[in-house]
Amino acid sequence: MTARILDGKELAKNIRQEVAAHAADMKKFHNIVPGLAVLLVGDNPASQSYVRSKARVCEEVGFRSYSQNLPSLTTQEELLALIADLNANPQVHGILVQLPLPPHINPLSIINAIDPLKDVDGFHPVNTGRLMAGLMCLAPCTPRGCMLMLGEVLPDMRGLKAVMVGRSNIVGKPMAIMLLQADCTVTIAHSKTRDLPALCREADILVAAIGKPRFIRGDWIKPGAVVLDVGVNRIETNGNGGTGSKSQLVGDVAFDEAALRASVITPVPGGVGPMTIACLMRNTLQATMLQTGWL
Ligand code: NDP
Repeated sequence: MTARILDGKELAKNIRQEVAAHAADMKKFHNIVPGLAVLLVGDNPASQSYVRSKARVCEEVGFRSYSQNLPSLTTQEELLALIADLNANPQVHGILVQLPLPPHINPLSIINAIDPLKDVDGFHPVNTGRLMAGLMCLAPCTPRGCMLMLGEVLPDMRGLKAVMVGRSNIVGKPMAIMLLQADCTVTIAHSKTRDLPALCREADILVAAIGKPRFIRGDWIKPGAVVLDVGVNRIETNGNGGTGSKSQLVGDVAFDEAALRASVITPVPGGVGPMTIACLMRNTLQATMLQTGWL
């Protein structure tokens, strides 16, 4: 078997187009333009690149972007004061603080300070609690994107066995909850799980969010399984680490091996990643609707 490759770029493009159409209607009929503030503290190159992509997509879908790159010495109090201003600003409907933050800032204090209605990352305890309770909420973007991808290939997931490898607050746990809400039978695996390969071999749906390049091998995949690879790992391809070294992005799944057994698999790059940003735009639209009385 050679797996169908689930193209996240194409699906994400469709989502962005839908969001852009809604945003155009909002502007035309109500003169409301969704606004997204992305705050970056410091000069981590990967974070800078993510923030640039978010600002670019924001403009593409017709939102206003209020991105700010703050110096790495910004204090927690200064960041909290800025969040309080953005919470009070009616032009700003979504606030996202790019993680990781420098070590002198406590990420939990920052996340807790964001108005839950503007928490487009879906990390505030009010939103995580509502997600857990099955209530309407702003849900984390990566799992939301994964569920939309699964919906493309498995419109009915009832009773399927899903294994979520990874239990982070931003991917693993919310993804497990969403799979449960789709009536899958869900197992969450982590670094202390015993015999992970055997557990993975039982999965009709296998989601990997570990952060270890090509960790999940082809013979861990149940024949015909749907495999979503959330991992993004940069590896060197010529191995010497010096000037001129080349690097490549790979997932947590050994793609070439797994594609021989899975029925559907997401690539890295071009799989879950583009869906995450598209879902951020969806969440910003939803937040705008919640704040302006459309929902
Ligand atoms: P975390 O580091 O927060 O969590 C990693 C999880 O993997 C932990 O729960 C950990 O277990 C588990 N784990 C680590 N080693 C093993 C092992 N040997 N066997 C089983 N489980 C293991 O990572 P994130 O969830 O934030 O991210 C995971 C990956 O997804 C990263 O590569 C990240 O870059 C990527 N990512 C991609 C996104 C996208 O849009 N495509 C968005 C977000 C993340 P334990 O809890 O026991 O330590």
